[in-house]
Amino acid sequence: MTNPTRRVFNFNAGPAVLPLPVLQQAQAEMLDFQGTGMSVLEISHRSKEFEGVIQQTEVDLRALMNIPANYKVLFLQGGASLQFAMAPMNLRPAGASADYILTGAWGKKAFEEARKLGLARLAANMKSTNFDRLPAQAELDLDPKAAYLHFTANETIHGVEYFSEPVPPPGVALVCDASSDFISRPIDVSKYGMIYAGAQKNAGPAGVVITILRDDLLERVPPNLPVMLDYKTLAGDGSMYNTPPCFSIYIVGLVLKWLKEIGGLPEIARRNQAKARLVYTAIDESGGFYRGHARPDSRSVMNITFRLPNEQLEEQFASQARQRDMIGLKGHRSVGGLRASLYNALPIQAVESLVQFMKEFQQKNG
Ligand SMILES: *Cc1c(COP(=O)(O)O)cnc(C)c1O
Repeated sequence: MTNPTRRVFNFNAGPAVLPLPVLQQAQAEMLDFQGTGMSVLEISHRSKEFEGVIQQTEVDLRALMNIPANYKVLFLQGGASLQFAMAPMNLRPAGASADYILTGAWGKKAFEEARKLGLARLAANMKSTNFDRLPAQAELDLDPKAAYLHFTANETIHGVEYFSEPVPPPGVALVCDASSDFISRPIDVSKYGMIYAGAQKNAGPAGVVITILRDDLLERVPPNLPVMLDYKTLAGDGSMYNTPPCFSIYIVGLVLKWLKEIGGLPEIARRNQAKARLVYTAIDESGGFYRGHARPDSRSVMNITFRLPNEQLEEQFASQARQRDMIGLKGHRSVGGLRASLYNALPIQAVESLVQFMKEFQQKNG
């Protein structure tokens, strides 16, 4: 492989860092994919080469996540944000209500979409302390007749993450926005009715959202939905009703192969834990100079949100880090402060470099 040109340590929240071997393989195959004399960007989505790509990507995802046979895997467009609307349109029968757990900005958006289209209620809303922790199971106000219970596995902006799923009442399907911690660790798919994730955090580039759906839920899909919003049609055509986002799916496929090669979800979970521990330890040992936004029992492994003593120092921190090739550390405008996103593809060297810089910055400014 060619020596890569300058690569920075990319802490962006999404689109985000991709594994270097994935980019190198895409580069190597760019002009001639599998002897076609064309790139994946140029071949027909009905060609046997692309059929191979989408089928293998599904096979590899099923193996990686241990997805049971009674679940469909869909590659869709419109991002996770369109799933906010498609979930209630497809899975909430007329007149029924759906429950939402709000642990941050994304859950709130999902709830607002659901409420525009029908009945939705809050099973919990953690807004009063600016979404700094997850609710305990006993704090949930659950509707036993809900069409489903929706939660956000990892709140990318606030930095709180679920490591054991909320438990819905018997017969109520669990629906999860897993956009920012998808394939970051093993989960038990059989606990879920549906899991969806925009690819651009952990699984690939923007342009494709992966939806994993238990097939009995397809029976709820109403008959008159526009085709592109209808899980039943999309599943029936194997995500190929129309032209799928071919290149994004191809890159997701390469990311899954990379994950398999390094040891799958148990190994990436171990690496992700190790990275997050380095940063949280630096925060906790800073004597209050760095203050984590999330409470320790709700801390995200993927997105670490923290503050400095004042905004001026936060600005300086982000800009001096940038000068050292650590980019994307400024927090989301709605929370402020800093945010380090430590997705699967971010190497531990990036985190070591960040922690070293945190110590130096504190020595100078603390
Ligand atoms: C990024 C993100 C979204 C939005 O994804 P789009 O693909 O941009 O629509 C939704 N939920 C979570 C948890 C996210 O991190």
